Amino acid sequence: MEEIRKLIRDIPDFPKEGIIFKDITPLLLDPKAYQTTIDVIADRYMDKHIDVVIGVEARGFVMASTIAYKLNAGFIMVRKPGKLPYKTHKATYQLEYGADSLEIHQDAIKPGQRVLIVDDVLATGGTASAVTGLVELMGGDLVECAFLIELDFLNGKEKLKDCPIFSLIHY
Ligand code: AMP
Repeated sequence: MEEIRKLIRDIPDFPKEGIIFKDITPLLLDPKAYQTTIDVIADRYMDKHIDVVIGVEARGFVMASTIAYKLNAGFIMVRKPGKLPYKTHKATYQLEYGADSLEIHQDAIKPGQRVLIVDDVLATGGTASAVTGLVELMGGDLVECAFLIELDFLNGKEKLKDCPIFSLIHY
């Protein structure tokens, strides 16, 4: 785990002042460490009968699609508004200033399907809680939200009270 942690790079003041961006690109460049990362997360769900894995644009896609492949599950893209070509459901969530939205295809989740949400970072929890709302709206059975990194000091867990959370690395 220390090996993985060492490959996550802090970029101060990106994308704006005061934010320390957790850059996972050095980890993605290291085949062994990235394989271990994916294996540890995927192994946790191997016997959990996951039907679909959701990835959130854009770094979430990278991890979620690989985990879906390992779990023999479908992969769903949740994207910024206007990017998905078919009919969508939309969830709007609050940012520090203003609001943002995410969309999912209306036929992505069938009622009762077992769903895993995967993203690289849990920060304030706004993104993940918007996605859990979409899963609920569509009648999916949310198994867990899995993150590579959780920023504990931002207390994103508070916004995800009704959803089990797993994070590989905590800051
Ligand atoms: P939040 O909605 O605040 O939990 O933010 C989560 C989303 O923003 C994730 O999709 C992350 O990829 C991204 N994110 C938020 N904070 C950071 C950070 N410090 N470093 C890297 N990505 C971040």
